[in-house]
Amino acid sequence: MINKCVLSCVLCLASFIFLAQTPVQRCKYRFDNYLNFKGSLNHRIEFQKEVIFILDAKGEKIFAFNENEIDLVAKYLINNPFAKQEKFLKFKGLKRFSATQRDSISKKIVDKRNIAKKDNSLPLSGYRIAIDPGHTGTNLTDAQIEQKFLYFVKDSINHPNDTIKLFESELTFNTAQLVQKMLEEQGAKVLITRSQSNFNSFNLTYTQWLFKHKTRTLDSLFSHKVLPKAKYTKLSNMSDRDLFWEFFRDFDLNNRARLMNEFEPHASLIIHYNVDEKNEPWKQTTKRNFTMAFIGGAFTSDNLDKPENMTHFLRLLLTDELNQSEKLASLSVTNFSKNLSIPVATQFDATYLKDNCLFTKSPGVFSRNLNLCRLINSPLVYGESLYQDCEKECEELMKKESNYKGIKTNERVLKVAKSYYEAVLKFLKN
Ligand SMILES: [Zn+2]
Repeated sequence: MINKCVLSCVLCLASFIFLAQTPVQRCKYRFDNYLNFKGSLNHRIEFQKEVIFILDAKGEKIFAFNENEIDLVAKYLINNPFAKQEKFLKFKGLKRFSATQRDSISKKIVDKRNIAKKDNSLPLSGYRIAIDPGHTGTNLTDAQIEQKFLYFVKDSINHPNDTIKLFESELTFNTAQLVQKMLEEQGAKVLITRSQSNFNSFNLTYTQWLFKHKTRTLDSLFSHKVLPKAKYTKLSNMSDRDLFWEFFRDFDLNNRARLMNEFEPHASLIIHYNVDEKNEPWKQTTKRNFTMAFIGGAFTSDNLDKPENMTHFLRLLLTDELNQSEKLASLSVTNFSKNLSIPVATQFDATYLKDNCLFTKSPGVFSRNLNLCRLINSPLVYGESLYQDCEKECEELMKKESNYKGIKTNERVLKVAKSYYEAVLKFLKN
């Protein structure tokens, strides 16, 4: 009990100190703690007492954000779609907004997340939560292309006929359905980016997409000059498997982010199930099991050379989305660990944590520049609750013996779903 009180006092003090900082100091905190991957952006930004300058790769100043503009620009970015954010930042550049300009911009911003609370409403009524259940493919043909499945005999000597067969896409979709049910019961509106466990965000399987939409999509991107001729020809003649990795994967992820952003969510959940990297090629079980979550950040200098990434970087620098994501992700990881009895990962437990991520002040929460962590305009958690190939998990995850209000599942997935749900509830209530 004493420990809990001490912890909540420390958290209160931390938020107080954070709020007492100036807008420039708050951006500096985000830059140092989430965004600047191992110092690689040091030469792309200049923090002065009352202004932040952003520099291009040659060292030329391209953006300036003054102390009295930062909150306004942040509010604009949070409440507008990507195309408008890009246009607004281009217009902003190095100029300093006058008081009249600031006033006129401020009047035009509609706060999309504002909720008028009614006394007798459910705790989450008015809130929107977007969920992306990771991956696609629940048969061996589709899943083999995506490489997100486990298929092996656990004990070939004593039980040669007992096969482990798990599709991550099925686990994430099942989890999303459960979280949706729990959140909707509290009055929230929930969006799931795909409608079936074997579908992608275009609501068909990859094989169906190849058959029905591949040619039309590539032709259209070519005629709109999104794809240059050489790339168009290369993609058109590629094997289905190569096309998935060279094109379709990102095409689908961009569409997932678009759907989520159009929903204007108060919080976003990106649901994944992990495997032990040291157990590759995953033809046996592992004894290891860790829980972790990702949020945005960890940009490198060449990331910023792509114009669209600069817009995402500025949104993450100027708004408090990363601070909010850290809170939501930390609540999720704490729940995963407690509800599922799994240790929280440290940076030493996987090479991708040490080599590709920045570790935040919250245990088990890492900044990583994953597509969805960068593209989604809301606080988010990218959860990796457990290792599917852990010897204690794999058989449990295959079960369908539990039933939660009409949804067939198992105890482990149900616990993962409850962990996300409790995290969202606590996050939005605060
Ligand atoms: Zn995954």
